[in-house]
Amino acid sequence: MVGTDDRIAAIGGMPSEEDIVLFGPGCQMGCTFCPHSGGRAGHRMETVLAPDFRLPLAHRVTILAGDVVRKEVAPLVSALRSQGSVEVFAYAHPGTWDLDALDELTSAGLTGIQLMLPAARKAELAALTGGKGSLGLVARLIDHANRRGLRVAAEIPVVESSATLIDDTVQRFLKITALPDRVALRFVAEFHPVRGPVPWDHSIATPHVAAASALCRGRQVPLILAHPEAPPPCVMDVPDASAAMYPGLSMYGLPRGAPRPFAACGSCAAAAVCHAEGRFLGGAEPVLTAPLALTGTAGSDAPGPVAGIRPERSRYMASEGTDRRKGLDQPDTPGPNASTIWRRQADLNLLRVELERRRIACRYPWEQLEAHDIRGVVTPCAGGWPLESTVNDCVSWHGGSLLTAWNSPGMQNTRRAVAAGRAHDTCKRDCPAFHGGPMGAVPSMSAPTTGVMFDNIIDNVREMLDGATVLQSRPQSISFSPTMRCTNRCRMCDIHEVMEAMGRPAEIREMPDSLFDELLELLPTTRMLALTGGEPLVSKRMRDLLKRFSADRFPDGAVTITTNGQLLRETILRDLSRTRIRQFYVSLNAADDAMYEYVSGIPGGFTRVKNHLSLLMDMAPRMAGRPGVIVSFVVMRSNFTQLPAFLDLALGLKTGIRLLPIERDRMGESIFTDEPTLAAVHAMLTGTVMPSIERLPWGYRAEIARLFSIIDGRLSRRDFSPL
Ligand code: SF4
Ligand code: SF4
Ligand code: SF4
Repeated sequence: MVGTDDRIAAIGGMPSEEDIVLFGPGCQMGCTFCPHSGGRAGHRMETVLAPDFRLPLAHRVTILAGDVVRKEVAPLVSALRSQGSVEVFAYAHPGTWDLDALDELTSAGLTGIQLMLPAARKAELAALTGGKGSLGLVARLIDHANRRGLRVAAEIPVVESSATLIDDTVQRFLKITALPDRVALRFVAEFHPVRGPVPWDHSIATPHVAAASALCRGRQVPLILAHPEAPPPCVMDVPDASAAMYPGLSMYGLPRGAPRPFAACGSCAAAAVCHAEGRFLGGAEPVLTAPLALTGTAGSDAPGPVAGIRPERSRYMASEGTDRRKGLDQPDTPGPNASTIWRRQADLNLLRVELERRRIACRYPWEQLEAHDIRGVVTPCAGGWPLESTVNDCVSWHGGSLLTAWNSPGMQNTRRAVAAGRAHDTCKRDCPAFHGGPMGAVPSMSAPTTGVMFDNIIDNVREMLDGATVLQSRPQSISFSPTMRCTNRCRMCDIHEVMEAMGRPAEIREMPDSLFDELLELLPTTRMLALTGGEPLVSKRMRDLLKRFSADRFPDGAVTITTNGQLLRETILRDLSRTRIRQFYVSLNAADDAMYEYVSGIPGGFTRVKNHLSLLMDMAPRMAGRPGVIVSFVVMRSNFTQLPAFLDLALGLKTGIRLLPIERDRMGESIFTDEPTLAAVHAMLTGTVMPSIERLPWGYRAEIARLFSIIDGRLSRRDFSPL
């Protein structure tokens, strides 16, 4: 029997998104801006491979810095991959010559290189790398990475002498790189032998950063101004900026009383998010824009008026720049200046502090519109967590519009109850919101790029803080089923029968005109569009809508799609390639054709979906959203013995997984209704899956542990009813 401790060990803690291993093998280069050249600080190989060394738990790990592309690093790459990192990058510099070593690292599981490239012109590169960097070696390295399918992230140190070359460097890098991962501009300073780093005026880089940003946008490659050195907008107010350029901005801000670089900082509206210490900041005192007039939110814990009073949006409108509503119908219109983004983030930070202070039990009723129900009933959340009486007071969009349904009596009751601290009046006590689960549909409070999105977030949060029940703001997240049609007939799903029983009305087979128009109207304020079905890709209208929801036109919007994978053909993927799709959830539920046909009713369907998954994995790095791919498996009576083979298949395809214990007992498929079946699933997990769990990535371990916990709990309690 695998105990709780083993399960926790199997999950291995929650990985962070990104981390580094600082490895100290030295460096042959002599970069003029590097405090480490020739003798880097960092761990020794014996140290990082010792059993007691805690390697970072992160989805992506970069091994830094200096001469990292060498064969001895292969065991470290392999250790990182085998403990679950999906991406492992190795630092590389313009003197990297050992391509055999790169091959060895690739065989060990390396997925990319982080190429330090201060300039892409011969003389400048030589000058900045102490005469040791070579453009020939850079071209050879990138060519090799291209052939091996490695991603290449450019790390461009920017100093005074290279500030006007940024766009040139980015252009040349993008031209020869097949899979550019991202471009990070790191603003540093060259060293004077006596005075140390020499501060410089970053404003000279402004037009070149803007040009580099446009180049990256054209290739759908993220451009990042790496913090903490990213110049603040008062000295480098990049035009046509995006929030994505400043990752971590929402975490910015110096501790109270920390020294600031300029006298003007004392009255700067962006100080709440500004991290500038002035280490490399030179030039004149900045000229500030007027501070924002963000009036505080109500100081009381009591919810405000409940009759849907519209917040005074005009104060935000008045304090903003001139980019209102850009990015909607004017795809080529430039975005806001960096200073606007910083001030937006300062506003959002203030609201976030207030939200945390209020401790609202759940944000879903204000943020999310969920219309998964086959009848089109709009609820604040899925999963059957609202009480039945609450759902009965909710209404379907079929009778009117999405926004009418979003302000139905059931939605209003839920908002009223949650705002008053009586959430149990409308929501089941089992809801994850009361057990440490997610409390909001949209986790991020990052400053958006478009003004219309910012307005809506501000309005939405203020309505939440006011306890409004009839909302004027729009949902930030929309979960939606565009059609109830589906190519498959899966054993656990009754959608076809329900459709028959309803007489196959036109509006549940395909989106009506009015709904299509309303969704189009809602796109500018939608941060997350989650599509399920039916099979959402069957809907031509939804495919059209997704095509219009492109990252160029809607820089703040993202999509997730739950699909059976039958239609993930190259033509459709190409059509969707400019949409910021974050995640594909592809249902498979089998590990071979015979089982797939039995479970889903489609002969040859397994092979087709498997081929589509390979294609998707190949195309995903070139799609605007760099989507993750999760393959799902509903664990049922007829297929549970294939779970180990399914795990191997997903590992081979390099996808993530989702394991769903079957709900209800359609066609006698529940594994929960008798002891022998439940015990057999339990034995399969403990005997076959759990012993080799350590070779699996964290995502797999967490899914297996969750599934095991449910089955183990049911067996211990001898509860043999359907889930
Ligand atoms: S290659 Fe990197 S680690 Fe080496 S000297 Fe240059 S900046 Fe420093
Ligand atoms: S606080 Fe304001 S003025 Fe000071 S460095 Fe930051 S952005 Fe510039
Ligand atoms: S508390 Fe639970 S049931 Fe209620 S709205 Fe939030 S997620 Fe839904």
